[in-house]
Amino acid sequence: MLAPQNPGVPKIPRSLFAARPAVGHTTSALNFDCYPKGYFMSSVASVEKPSQSIGLHAHQLHWRYALPIAAVHVLACLAFLPLFFSWSGVVLAALCTHLFGMLGINLCYHRLLTHRSLTTPLWLEHVLATIALCSLEDTPVRWVATHRLHHVHSDETADPHSPNDGLGWSHAGWLLRAAPSRRSLAFYDRYARDVIADSYYRWLEKRPFTVLYIYAAQIPVFGACGWIVSWCVNGHTAAATQLALSWIVWGVFVRTVLVWHQTWSVNSLSHVFGYRTYETKENSRNNWLVALIAAGEGWHNNHHHDPVSASVQHRWWEFDPTYYCICLLAKLGLAHDIVLPRHIRQARTAAATTSRELVP
Ligand SMILES: [Zn+2]
Ligand SMILES: [Zn+2]
Repeated sequence: MLAPQNPGVPKIPRSLFAARPAVGHTTSALNFDCYPKGYFMSSVASVEKPSQSIGLHAHQLHWRYALPIAAVHVLACLAFLPLFFSWSGVVLAALCTHLFGMLGINLCYHRLLTHRSLTTPLWLEHVLATIALCSLEDTPVRWVATHRLHHVHSDETADPHSPNDGLGWSHAGWLLRAAPSRRSLAFYDRYARDVIADSYYRWLEKRPFTVLYIYAAQIPVFGACGWIVSWCVNGHTAAATQLALSWIVWGVFVRTVLVWHQTWSVNSLSHVFGYRTYETKENSRNNWLVALIAAGEGWHNNHHHDPVSASVQHRWWEFDPTYYCICLLAKLGLAHDIVLPRHIRQARTAAATTSRELVP
């Protein structure tokens, strides 16, 4: 049974994500047992007030996030050792950072699942979500619920990662602090009911360690690819093993760290540095550096102005590679119902109204 919803928490505004039919939703979607027992720390739907409890005392540390974050950063540092260095590894890290960050986090978690700015075939949505899981940024349900909470309470007390509570807090500090109210079925019910209604995402939520297994599974894949490529080129076992190790360190651990900091920079830098095209109610900014490294996500003031839009490019030079990827999927017949920017939607509505009035 869910706790009664807190009347003090505002409803999610409809402008936050496009209305889509709730495919596969059942009333029992949230009524499930989870392994390990006690995973959900609270049944209360109220939101955290981070500014009242900033600081990381040991008993408040969210070890399930802190340990993997620390471990992957340490493993990424191996890249500086000659044994794990290769130029092909550097190129692999650069390519995969954009591939996994843009397709998995930007396109799938953010624009597809959170804001419903487009639709894709369900098999493709699940493939993209699995790519996102390879960046170890949380399950789809938790990512979506947290980001919608950010939009509802941007730069207010209840914002989980506002720079008003410190730049470091907004970048990564908020992830390290336990937040029981954001790990509750009631929270997911309020902010991500449409996502948890999907059987694949619900299955992931029931087995939270599956995220770690999926992340670990890519390690032998990168290693095997590196080994095979080197063996085919050189034919030496030692060289093949060295390249395999290099591709694991650069292709998995370095890439994961880079994707993390891309996403975290949107939460931190794009709420502090940059220009504002729109006078939105929060401090979002358009930050060209974050846009460059995060495939368009740095045009964050444009995004807060019109969260439902699939594109954040409002000026010709505000490049949005994630949207170009959505357009490519549309050309291939794999993306539909793409929500255009508000000014284009309004212009089309006005043109349609005018043409109707001109018809005798
Ligand atoms: Zn924001
Ligand atoms: Zn958003």
